[in-house]
Amino acid sequence: SCGITAYEYAHIGNLRRYVMDDVLVRLLRSQNFEVTYVQNVTDIGHLVSDEDEGEDKIEKTAAAQNKTPEEIARYFEDYFFSASDDIGNLRPDIIPRATAHIQEQIDLIKKLEDKGYTYIIEGDGVYFDTSKSPNYGYLARLDKEGLRAGERVEMVEGKKNPTDFALWKFEHHDDKSRAMVWPSPWGERTFPGWHTECVAMSQKYLGESYELHSGGIDHIPVHHTNEIAIAHAATNQDIYARYWIHHNFLRVENSKMSKSLGNIILLDDIKERGFNPRALRYLFLTAHYRKELNFTWESMAAAQKAYNKIVKEAYELKHTTSRDEFYDVLQDRLDDLHAKFYTPLLDDLNTATALTVLGQVFKSALPTRDKYELLLEFDEVLGLGLREEIANIEANPDLLQQLTLPKETLDPSLLSDEVKKLLQQRQTAKQAQNFAAADAFREQLRLLGFQVQDTSEGEQQVFILEG
Ligand code: AMP
Ligand code: ZN
Repeated sequence: SCGITAYEYAHIGNLRRYVMDDVLVRLLRSQNFEVTYVQNVTDIGHLVSDEDEGEDKIEKTAAAQNKTPEEIARYFEDYFFSASDDIGNLRPDIIPRATAHIQEQIDLIKKLEDKGYTYIIEGDGVYFDTSKSPNYGYLARLDKEGLRAGERVEMVEGKKNPTDFALWKFEHHDDKSRAMVWPSPWGERTFPGWHTECVAMSQKYLGESYELHSGGIDHIPVHHTNEIAIAHAATNQDIYARYWIHHNFLRVENSKMSKSLGNIILLDDIKERGFNPRALRYLFLTAHYRKELNFTWESMAAAQKAYNKIVKEAYELKHTTSRDEFYDVLQDRLDDLHAKFYTPLLDDLNTATALTVLGQVFKSALPTRDKYELLLEFDEVLGLGLREEIANIEANPDLLQQLTLPKETLDPSLLSDEVKKLLQQRQTAKQAQNFAAADAFREQLRLLGFQVQDTSEGEQQVFILEG
């Protein structure tokens, strides 16, 4: 899996990508495939434009923040993996960093050089000659003849073909300010190109030819197309990656997430608004990975509600005291639900249908204990964290109340005098630090069908409870 470029905070669009990869890994493991999950970290060489132009993204952030590129890359790498943990992704088995695989990249380019696939543009870099690669662009169905510089590619001066790309870069003659440079067969102050990184690292850990390679749909025309060209030229394998998985993008309120629009959402924003990261995961699972998903705060609230329902019902299943009857067709029912759950997932990762099967488990005529165990089994694949959520409730039973989800904030002027009075009393009790009394008022409000939440400014917000 092509990992992040560690130059800024990973946003929820990035997370969507890795959630779907994580579900795929979990699914394969559930089917007893042995999976080695490699997800690299690009901590060098990803230029501002994918076409070998402009500054290095990490060096640019480092310069702006007066930090070293290493400090920047480690900071944003840590941020990404902690968000990834929060949203329930398992850590990849191997997380190689590009800067730790310089020699592997040089060796790979040497092979290409020996086979005559490369040329040098003075003062710029070692380039791959795509006219030597017979199937160049097949993944993206590129029309090579029809390509003009400025469409898919920017025309770097000295390139033989518009699609040629840099394997290795040289610091510009007039600039000796780069922080990250290495000596190489091509000079003293040189550095890797992005496409080479992913080939060198994935082949090191998975072999020259492997099963699955994933990335975002944005990787198809340039990055993955170039990875394939490198891999095929360097090795004699017919196949580099047997299957490619390309994740579609997350949009926010129907627009592209971008800095210029100021609409980038981080997992921190989701948490600050009181949502559970696993509810965001639930939201991601409602859409197919090849389709765009449009994030809205309404859909987030709906996902939180659906997620809470599952947690609450699963908790109740675990703690029900009713004794189960004898069921003679138990195995048939289990088989039926298994098929309903795994068949769509195994058909190109249809997570949305699999999610609906959770609801069917609750409604099924299985004994309580079997329902509960089946849910936990399915959750090994979905990663919604039911086991942890239930353990949290067991440790703090008050959490169960909070799972009854607020619908919408009520306009205070619409509240009855009785409710207003209770709110006032609760506020006074809180100010006097009499929390037991404040809780008692909250409970009285709850019995009337209202839920109170405190905002970060210390104000009370009132919601109508479901049911
Ligand atoms: P980057 O760190 O920019 O290399 O991006 C890491 C991964 O996140 C890439 O695979 C991108 O395709 C993917 N990505 C970036 N933006 C989005 C988005 N809005 N929705 C989904 N995936 C995204
Ligand atoms: Zn890659």
